[in-house]
Amino acid sequence: MFKHMKKLLFVICTHGDELAGLNLFLHYPYGKNEKVEWKVMVGNPMATLTNLRFTETDLNRSFNAKKARSYEEKRAEILKKIFANYDVVCDIHTTTAIRDSIGWDKCLFVNSVDQSTLSECRYVPSDYIIWDSDPTYQKQYLPAHAKIGITIEYTKTKNAAIDMKRIEKDFIQIINQKPISSQAEKKRLLCRADRGVTQDEKDKHNLFLKEFVPLTQEEKKKLKLHLEKEYYPVFINPRSIDPKYYCFLNEKM
Ligand SMILES: [Zn+2]
Repeated sequence: MFKHMKKLLFVICTHGDELAGLNLFLHYPYGKNEKVEWKVMVGNPMATLTNLRFTETDLNRSFNAKKARSYEEKRAEILKKIFANYDVVCDIHTTTAIRDSIGWDKCLFVNSVDQSTLSECRYVPSDYIIWDSDPTYQKQYLPAHAKIGITIEYTKTKNAAIDMKRIEKDFIQIINQKPISSQAEKKRLLCRADRGVTQDEKDKHNLFLKEFVPLTQEEKKKLKLHLEKEYYPVFINPRSIDPKYYCFLNEKM
């Protein structure tokens, strides 16, 4: 009897300077087991060859161009067609924007919190899931164009061999469809992307926030947030890296 095999697509090097996913492309480019079949592909081949984030426009911001002009916008059109053949697309990133201050080595981004997306996330180890809840804004991102799209954002260490190992370990868990433990599931934080905190706000209120550490009542008051809600900052940046935003806040769901 024909059994539908779940089809997974792993996209690596959407940003061409995040090379740790190449290990998957070289060692597990395609395959199947009794649960799934998968393929690994390079998101932005041109940028990857030169080890640059992108060539003309950031691929992960190029998915909603009205008319594809840049190399990346054209590449996005090709990828969208490919995504139609897969049940789940995992987009793998390594970022220097998250600092591993209290042991958060990665987080997931999803564009929807429907049941099928959340149940797929059970195979992807991570303590933190961020829902990009703005339906218009999220269209620029790659995973928004998959049936189920999950971004896995790893903290980039100084050692590519370590990053490759972490990515490979999760990949093996995902293709074997081994859910995270119920303990890990309980520990998991699901948050909705709420808003940015500008560098000016940081200066004005003298804020020194820590990644993934919930805001205090005092900090919430300063930022005029709901006092009864819980907020977690991510992507904390000095002005030299991001002149506009100091960090982004996620609200616990
Ligand atoms: Zn990236």
